[in-house]
Amino acid sequence: MADAERLLLVNVAELLRRPASRKEVHVRAHLEGLRVGDAEVVPGSEIDVDVELESLTDGIVVTGRVVAEWEAPCRRCLAPVGGRADVAVRELYQPPPRTDEDAFELHGEQLDLEPLVREVVVLELPLAPLCRDDCRGLCTICGADLNETDCGHDQRPVDPRWAALEGLAERLEDETP
Ligand SMILES: [Zn+2]
Ligand SMILES: [Zn+2]
Repeated sequence: MADAERLLLVNVAELLRRPASRKEVHVRAHLEGLRVGDAEVVPGSEIDVDVELESLTDGIVVTGRVVAEWEAPCRRCLAPVGGRADVAVRELYQPPPRTDEDAFELHGEQLDLEPLVREVVVLELPLAPLCRDDCRGLCTICGADLNETDCGHDQRPVDPRWAALEGLAERLEDETP
């Protein structure tokens, strides 16, 4: 959808002419490719961008909220999990040369909200989503969903520290004459 890029482009000619002036922007835009690991913004969904632009002497500050729906498989049982990223934003845009290296770049009279939206949404996606805090995951032996059945297999994980110690003990035994 080519529209998304236009929707997120805001004409700021008026703001640049009059410092301390404000402009509100409320748009819903669809952006492709927003994902971190297995978590992604629901394909085809729209992201709510609800911000106010204010011109300062050294740029334009964008404050407000960005809201996106995400989905991902549960880290333990792979069941689909969904949620909402609701991010408060406060970011600066500056024309080049920027004096603030964290500022987004402002090109001419068009302020492009897309890089800001992408950055804040991606940072908010869960790295290890769970369907619920006590999800029991899948059986490591037969793959059964332990939230639904008890297959009877021993689920005690082998602690890697013990495994390392056992390896060390074996080596010591081998080396001892
Ligand atoms: Zn789960
Ligand atoms: Zn099992």
